[in-house]
Amino acid sequence: MTAPTIKHCRQCGTAVQYRVPDDGDTKVRAVCPACGTIHYQNPLNVVGTLPVWQGKVLLCKRNIEPRFGKWTLPAGFLELAETTAQGALRETDEEAGAQIQLGPLYTLINVPQVSQVHFYYRAELLSDVFNPGPETIEARLFDEADIPWDELSFRTVRETLKVFFADRAAGHFGVHTIDF
Ligand SMILES: [Zn+2]
Repeated sequence: MTAPTIKHCRQCGTAVQYRVPDDGDTKVRAVCPACGTIHYQNPLNVVGTLPVWQGKVLLCKRNIEPRFGKWTLPAGFLELAETTAQGALRETDEEAGAQIQLGPLYTLINVPQVSQVHFYYRAELLSDVFNPGPETIEARLFDEADIPWDELSFRTVRETLKVFFADRAAGHFGVHTIDF
């Protein structure tokens, strides 16, 4: 999913034109021919967690599109005026109703094809009782051997789980910056 196309000026409602602004810019932007407003669009941030309970990983079965019915780590779009850590905690609460102790940043994944950056934090679950919200069909714990690799929702989730199990086997957790 790329950023939505801007059709009308956010200031005055006039239909915008797509062109390179006259101010030395080099990229095509949505420019308002009436009031001159330039609408800049920038990548979206997705924040989430990798919550662990006694060696098992928490996954959520999606009750929403895209990827309805697929398994995901709790994650979603960062809100305005929110830190990445706050967003990761909020998404974990909203999607899984899970109580966690947030750990360090674990993966930073650039997805330039869709202009997104994904941040996953490691987290310790404080309880194995979950209370999933409306975006989740089911929240449950998986042993490494039971991870539904073919039923995961997103490549960033798969990659984060992959490096987690590799790091755990090696006995060392680093921070991973990954470019897709
Ligand atoms: Zn305008």
